[in-house]
Amino acid sequence: MTADAAPVVAESDVVVVGGGSAGVAAAVSAARNGVSVILVERYGCLGGMASGGMVLVLDDMANGREVTVRGLCTEYISRLDKLGLAKYPGPDEWGADPVSVRRWTRWGASDFHFSGTPKPICYSVAFDPDGWKRVSLDLVREAGVRLRLHSWSAGVVMEATRVTGVRCLTKAGFQELRGQVVIDTSGDLDVAAAAGASFVHGRYLVTTVFRLGSVDVEAAERHWDEQPREAAMLNRRAKLILGGAWENWWLRTPLPGVVWCNCPHLSGYDGIDPESQTAAEIAGRDRIYALVDYARSALPGFERCFVVDVAPQLGVRQTRLLQGEYVVTMADIAGRRHFVDSVARGRDYYTPYRALLPREVEGLLVAGRHYSAEPQAQRVSREIPPCMSMGEAAGAAAALAVEQNVAVRDIDVAVLRRRLRAQGHDPGDVPSANASPASED
Ligand SMILES: Cc1cc2nc3c(=O)[nH]c(=O)nc-3n(C[C@H](O)[C@H](O)[C@H](O)COP(=O)(O)OP(=O)(O)OC[C@H]3O[C@@H](n4cnc5c(N)ncnc54)[C@H](O)[C@@H]3O)c2cc1C
Repeated sequence: MTADAAPVVAESDVVVVGGGSAGVAAAVSAARNGVSVILVERYGCLGGMASGGMVLVLDDMANGREVTVRGLCTEYISRLDKLGLAKYPGPDEWGADPVSVRRWTRWGASDFHFSGTPKPICYSVAFDPDGWKRVSLDLVREAGVRLRLHSWSAGVVMEATRVTGVRCLTKAGFQELRGQVVIDTSGDLDVAAAAGASFVHGRYLVTTVFRLGSVDVEAAERHWDEQPREAAMLNRRAKLILGGAWENWWLRTPLPGVVWCNCPHLSGYDGIDPESQTAAEIAGRDRIYALVDYARSALPGFERCFVVDVAPQLGVRQTRLLQGEYVVTMADIAGRRHFVDSVARGRDYYTPYRALLPREVEGLLVAGRHYSAEPQAQRVSREIPPCMSMGEAAGAAAALAVEQNVAVRDIDVAVLRRRLRAQGHDPGDVPSANASPASED
């Protein structure tokens, strides 16, 4: 079977391509708004970077004490909480109180945008990757989304400039899935790029994330309390072996004795070039195994540690970025610029609907880390909660377009925002006190 002669195996109102945090949010949001939805994912589980990439802290969802990313993100947190698979500080623990800082820093709840030390504690949630997969699957099934795993979108079906479906590579050969609206949540803009939408090819650090088990976390923390200079010296050595890591290269997880290592970071690799991806996987593993040897021999609390897993998905932060109807700039993010068509939020920044819309292609929306932004701006606005926020907005927008039988670029954004509010999402229609006012462009 060739890609040109693929059978149409399923049709729905909306086809969402990519089952990461943005894709699940888009699919569930669209289905809850009353349209039929197919969700396509290349791997055997949902979550993308939040599960297969083992990115295990939700952050960038609060503007000071105001929680800005709500809706489906809040649903995930409460479901994970009920499973005992989420851990986060309460509002009374946010801030710079030393007891709180001591308790929560190793959970990754520090405000990493704060330049001084110690960094204050903010609203952030540490979670378990398999818990994320489970909650994603529950949400998708409860919403009635038709899930197609093990299906790799490898081409688009077009009618002139309109996308009408995707062509997936599967073990059963090529298969076509058709939809009135397609949402690209592949993270790498696979669908929009294939359809001819403009993009830039960005790059940033990639990381082979891993977890260590059998760590005596209390002993490790006690060593920092009792012998901070020695602990800092040993930590510097560990970071040298890793060759790229944040200051706290290991963080606690909800699983006893298991720590999350968001490292080693590797620069100069390309997340959509197989040769480069292969080289990154190998270079990362070499550093991990060297680190484990060192940790077992030198780090208090790590004497019996072992590798639980290296993330099955390479930690890719940035590849293709849409250059859509509006391209979000660094000045927009840094200046907390509000937009008249804001439909999604991150920490203290806003995402206009136009940043989810390709310029040249019809029937297509994008959401997630490949949204329309300058590379510098995307680096600081692509955490999991804002990606979910964009997904939730895109799903509801697609449903609205189908319901009203209009092009996605012609929907009434005011109606969309009212619907998003009603479903618990904050579209950023009401700017916070520290926002810069919107202008018309
Ligand atoms: C190492 C690292 C550390 C990070 N740290 C944090 C952090 O601490 N906190 C935080 O909030 N964020 C963090 N981030 C950012 C965050 O994880 C991502 O930006 C976010 O998860 C992206 O979500 P997404 O849904 O847009 O993309 P992804 O999670 O990449 O999801 C894309 C999905 O699409 C699927 N897919 C891709 N191509 C195809 C195709 N052609 N056909 C079918 N399916 C396809 C993928 O398998 C995947 O499931 C980090 C990122 C990295 C890499």
